[in-house]
Amino acid sequence: MSQQPIVVCSFGEGRDGLPPGAEEVLHIGRNLAQACEAPLMWVILGPLPERASATAGLYGVQNLHQIDDAKLEANHTDAQVAALAAYGKAQTPQAILVHQTLEARTVAPRLAARLGGAVVMNGISISPIGQNFEITASAYGGDTRVIYEVGPKPVLAFIPNAVIPEPGSGSAIDAEPFAVDLSGVEERIEVLEPAHFDGPRLDDADIIVSGGRGLGSQDNYSLIEQLAEALGGIAGASRPLVDDGWVDSSHQVGLTGRITRPNLYVAIGISGASQHMAGCSAAKTIVAVNRDPEAAIFQHARFGIVGDALEIVPELIRAASAG
Ligand SMILES: Cc1cc2nc3c(=O)[nH]c(=O)nc-3n(C[C@H](O)[C@H](O)[C@H](O)COP(=O)(O)OP(=O)(O)OC[C@H]3O[C@@H](n4cnc5c(N)ncnc54)[C@H](O)[C@@H]3O)c2cc1C
Repeated sequence: MSQQPIVVCSFGEGRDGLPPGAEEVLHIGRNLAQACEAPLMWVILGPLPERASATAGLYGVQNLHQIDDAKLEANHTDAQVAALAAYGKAQTPQAILVHQTLEARTVAPRLAARLGGAVVMNGISISPIGQNFEITASAYGGDTRVIYEVGPKPVLAFIPNAVIPEPGSGSAIDAEPFAVDLSGVEERIEVLEPAHFDGPRLDDADIIVSGGRGLGSQDNYSLIEQLAEALGGIAGASRPLVDDGWVDSSHQVGLTGRITRPNLYVAIGISGASQHMAGCSAAKTIVAVNRDPEAAIFQHARFGIVGDALEIVPELIRAASAG
């Protein structure tokens, strides 16, 4: 492989002073750069998140670039694509890796087209194979793994689906501004009213209590909200609850919902389907309540309670409120 860089690309600030999913993608990027004997670059669109310089050092980033422009607001994907296309043409990376946020889902395919490369979504791992890359990605809603060989110049969107190891040590590096001319860019999509969701977003939450179909009825979802409140967390849900209109879609955890990374994830009456786990398996600790001892969720849970959610959750609320 050549010395053309591997580029990690991040948008905006998420939890802990870093862009969402930055460390997961930097971890994948560092391994790929080492395998290709290529430099690792990290480009951030918008204001520089607080911990970016220090984190770049920890992951062996050679160049940290920042592209800042008044047009690079959230959801301004025409400007984001134009900025990254200009950056890609200047740096000629072998591969660009992005964390699969909703924004990245819109930007990555268009960026690949601008750069004349391929795009792979739902990536899990990547390694060099000759001049190309072998990429494993999830498909069919997460039930299947697909192996692609793509190249050159792929753009890859990764979902963070595992807890990553500690990054190691390294000195902070300064961000270098990368100038782009976005004066001619007109946004073609106007956000009239962003989806409104009170309180912290699931993506950034430290504690999440999610309910599933095992709750039996919409009324019982209030138990999830009460337990979330008692634990100082926020309430999430599996997709059937959103499909049935019990809660709005901002609560949905999973492949087609929010990809979360809390310290504590409490799954109540949730079977543990792969599509749901795609949104919570990076949690540090999963606690499951399910009346079926064979439920798949118990394979992921650190602590499990077998029993009826309607009996157990009120006890948990009492215990959490007393504590
Ligand atoms: C393309 C695609 C994308 C998808 N994206 C998502 C996604 O983003 N998020 C998502 O969640 N799903 C998603 N799904 C759906 C997913 O496949 C599952 O159908 C869904 O996650 C199941 O939700 P559930 O666990 O709440 O319900 P179920 O699978 O019906 O499980 C209910 C569980 O509750 C338990 N239970 C029943 N009664 C009780 C009780 N009284 N007390 C305790 N436990 C009880 C049962 O034992 C069971 O394990 C997607 C599917 C596809 C095909």
